[in-house]
Formats: sequence, C-alpha cells, structure tokens
Amino acid sequence: MDLRNLYQELILDHSKHPRNFGEIEEATCHANGHNPLCGDKVKVYLTVEGNRITDISFSGAGCAISTASASLMGEAIKGRSLEEVESLKSSFLEMLTSNTESEPVDLGKLRVLEGVKEFPMRVKCATLAWHTLAAALTQRDGTVTSE
Ligand code: ZN
Repeated sequence: MDLRNLYQELILDHSKHPRNFGEIEEATCHANGHNPLCGDKVKVYLTVEGNRITDISFSGAGCAISTASASLMGEAIKGRSLEEVESLKSSFLEMLTSNTESEPVDLGKLRVLEGVKEFPMRVKCATLAWHTLAAALTQRDGTVTSE
C-alpha cells in the first residue's frame, strides 16, 4: 500500500467514524460554518480553560472531506494552547492554499489532507472546520470584526 492509499484510508475512516462528534453542553464558545459551494455545514464547540483548548466537538453534515477534516482537527488541537492551535491553523491553511514547500510546524496526521490541494473546489471543504474554529475563538474574545 503506497502512502497515498494510506492517506485515503485515513480520510475515509475519519469521515465514516468522526472523532469528537456531538455537542458540548457547557461549551465556552461555538460557531457555525457553511460552505455553500459544496453544502457542508459544521458547528464547532470549544471548551477553553485559561490558555488551553481542553475539549472540542463538532456537529453538522457535509462531504467526506469536510467531515474528515473536522475530525482530524479535533484530534490535533485538543489539549493544545491557543498559540499552538493558531500556528497549526496557519500551517494547515498554508499547506492547502500556497505552493511553497515551507513547513514551519509539524502537522502530523493533518498532512493526509494535503492531496486536496489538487482539487481547488474541495479546498474549502477541508478548511471549513478551521475557519469555523477561528470564528468560535473570536466570539470567545468578544471581538467583532467589521470585515
Ligand atoms: Zn464539501
């Protein structure tokens, strides 16, 4: 089995059996994300204690890529500090949207989604959960952006 097949297996596994799927009743913050291009909808719930994301879950319905991405994101950021999450997010988005090979942060399993880059229509599916995560964290800060 080559690496590419292995990556596809992982994506399929996460889309069929998403980790951290459901709602957190006592969530510190949450946000809704929608990708109209594909019809993906995701809701991200976070429990933030101090400077750390101690729990995360997501709900919603979407394609295999968006579900797998949200599931992998949850595994990657649970227990991490907000700074670590921020650098993971920017590295992940950079992996999918830029052509440079820079890799400042070890993305671990998130790297399985790199192949999505070859399908520009699906990039928004893979990044939806991360944009929704960012929106939830913004809400927590009470910051309102006018952009
Ligand atoms: Zn999608």
